[in-house]
Amino acid sequence: MKKICVIEGDGIGKEVVPAAIKVLDEVGDFEYIYAEAGLECLKKYGDAIPDETIEKAKECDAVLFGAITSPKPTEYKGKYRSPILTLRKELNLYANVRPINDFKNIDLVIIRENTEDVYVGREYYDEEKEIAIAERVISKKGSERIIKFAFEYAINNNRKKVSCIHKANVLRITDGLFLRIFNEIGEKYKDKIDYDDYLVDATAMYLVKSPEMFDVIVTTNLFGDILSDEASALIGGLGLAPSANIGDEYGLFEPVHGSAPDIAGKGIANPIATILSAAMMLDYFGMKEKGNKIRNAVKRVLEKGKVTPDLGGNLKTSEVVDEIIKELRGYS
Ligand code: ATP
Ligand code: MG
Repeated sequence: MKKICVIEGDGIGKEVVPAAIKVLDEVGDFEYIYAEAGLECLKKYGDAIPDETIEKAKECDAVLFGAITSPKPTEYKGKYRSPILTLRKELNLYANVRPINDFKNIDLVIIRENTEDVYVGREYYDEEKEIAIAERVISKKGSERIIKFAFEYAINNNRKKVSCIHKANVLRITDGLFLRIFNEIGEKYKDKIDYDDYLVDATAMYLVKSPEMFDVIVTTNLFGDILSDEASALIGGLGLAPSANIGDEYGLFEPVHGSAPDIAGKGIANPIATILSAAMMLDYFGMKEKGNKIRNAVKRVLEKGKVTPDLGGNLKTSEVVDEIIKELRGYS
């Protein structure tokens, strides 16, 4: 039986995660290990992500994560470490996967490298020259593992094409390396899947004008950050956007949205982003059919307009879950 570490977190995390678990229980048998993290946890234990939580995550087959509220920068100075950044590092989750699917016309996936690029945090200011400099780090090893991951993901998910997004015409050395490795790996996979590449600026435009051009996108950390937020605007908001953080040993699945303190406790949070994240977790477990079953049920509920207020409906979180479960029962 698969063991899932459940971190509800703060705010609507405590509403959308239990909703996703109801749906998981409808399609299979799973063992849940509960762990704490977030602002409430910080207030309780003086640590936003206790070691015990990290240990529990490492004992499980995957983590289902809700959302956490970050403390104000002035509060808890020095004591705060970000739960999600800590888990990414501890579990070596180098791939960020964001499906962009409106269940109508748009269906693409953005795979973002999650450990390198300008996020290595090497920024400094040269007082004498009065220039600020940030280092952009792209390694051969880091590029190979994310690009291989993207091709494997594409094949396992019946995708047709992988596109590398870069700015190799200007960043000749860093993105030049990334693109060269992409083409080398693409050549090895060419009997199984197509591959091509686009400049990041052109991609920003194409995503708005003709998103159907893309299937699986693989890109470096900063471009992936920007493009995935841009692309999420194509599908009608945060309430529908799932994500996964994956490494060679562990996987963590979470909605793109945050803890939404403005609507927390009202019972109206849209649970679909978390339910779709749970479906990605089932794919990761090799339970593709169960994942598809959930996505089909969500699709029908969306078509019927049985949705929460953020999508223009008048249903509560629990009612949307009931509708999805009804669809699952009718379908199975
Ligand atoms: P945090 O600091 O935790 O990120 P936030 O205030 O930035 O919190 P987000 O969760 O990022 O909130 O959401 C931004 C907006 O989108 C908020 O108005 C929130 O109510 C709305 N929103 C986010 N997720 C959902 C959801 N699942 N259902 C309904 N509305 C949502
Ligand atoms: Mg936010």
